[in-house]
Amino acid sequence: MKKLALHWKILIGMVIGILFGLLMTRIDGGSTFVANWINPFGSIFVKLLKLIAVPLIIASLVKGISDLKDISKFKNIGLKTIGIYIFTTVIAITIGLLLVNVVKPGDGISEETITKLTETYANSGGVQAKIAEASKQKSSGPLQFLVDMVPDNAMKAMSNNKSMLQVIFFTIFLGISMLLIGEKRSKPLKDFFDSLNEVVLKMVDLIMLFAPIAVFALLSNVVVSSNDPDLLIALLKYAGTVVGGLFLLVVFYMVLVKVFTKKNPFWFLKQLSPAQLLAFSTSSSAATLPVTMERVEEHIGVDKEVSSFVLPVGATINMDGTSLYQAVAAVFIAQALGFDLTFVDQLTIIITALLASIGSAAVPGAGMVMLVIVLESVNFPADKLAIGLALIFAVDRPLDMCRTVINVTGDATVASLVAKSVGKLHDNPTPKNWDDHYDEVK
Ligand code: ASP
Repeated sequence: MKKLALHWKILIGMVIGILFGLLMTRIDGGSTFVANWINPFGSIFVKLLKLIAVPLIIASLVKGISDLKDISKFKNIGLKTIGIYIFTTVIAITIGLLLVNVVKPGDGISEETITKLTETYANSGGVQAKIAEASKQKSSGPLQFLVDMVPDNAMKAMSNNKSMLQVIFFTIFLGISMLLIGEKRSKPLKDFFDSLNEVVLKMVDLIMLFAPIAVFALLSNVVVSSNDPDLLIALLKYAGTVVGGLFLLVVFYMVLVKVFTKKNPFWFLKQLSPAQLLAFSTSSSAATLPVTMERVEEHIGVDKEVSSFVLPVGATINMDGTSLYQAVAAVFIAQALGFDLTFVDQLTIIITALLASIGSAAVPGAGMVMLVIVLESVNFPADKLAIGLALIFAVDRPLDMCRTVINVTGDATVASLVAKSVGKLHDNPTPKNWDDHYDEVK
């Protein structure tokens, strides 16, 4: 019998997880059962993926850079990557702004719903925590992000998943210095990292064997901990606007893939699909990164020279889905609370949502923290911030799941575009299986 493709197995796990979660919400003590006995398996899976993220970034980036043989190529890849990332993010925000201004989801929200949402969420721990975190982020100077990018202790940076950019900085520095001491002298280190890279990719294969069960656990937990369905329905127009925008963004990526790489965009999405399904289930592009890297290299054919830089950087700074959501959410809140936005305000949203998505961490719910900063940039009254966030809090988790899929898809699209432009997109990628050498060690 032909083996079932991975994306089907994951999809089946997701569907059963949702159905199981729905069933459990109807049974007394069902939610506690899921939290205590099912959810831990999802958490273990996410931890395993995060566990290998730092070694994978280091090993593959060193390999990518030391394979280059020419530093100017790296500059070329770097500049192109940043340029295309900014371009796609601005398009994402623009799509969001156009849609939310046409659909006007905030105008139809009744006073009654606003009161109910405010009462339920405005003083809740969730909303208050986002506001508190945003004010922490804001209190820094304009160049603080550059300062933050440079670690003062490589080991400390590597021991913290939140210091991804510091790890990337250190690794690029290491890789370039390896190039500069010449091939012969850097060979032992290069061999070490090459081998580490192979091993970590094998770990990804092994972790992925567990993916269908993990997504079952993750999704059943999302279902049992989700909010009052009535509130979700009241916010359907807003959620629909975000999802519609994200869908248009996928179409935009498909056009980019077709026009610039000449690959079939449906084939592209199919190859990427396990990473997208994991992004949906975990709501974290950082946790999904190892799988994104594996799919983009082994299944789409992007050379490591490109993917090893473009994808980790993308996971941290390129969040098209998040930026689109921030634009829609900011305007929606303004519409619902009768706060007028001028044309200049909307332009301000483009700039701040761009910066906010760069500054958002690649973890669940981070986009909402930076939304506070977008709202403040258009002088949204501070005393109404909690009410504003309360309006969208109920649907934030499902929207987070959707925007994370787009964040990952955007990174993979840009990686393919950059690879094509430097002649590093291979025609016949060969995926490796977890058991390729199993016979030798059985
Ligand atoms: N969860 C998103 C990500 O990891 C970030 C966000 O929009 O909250 O990409």
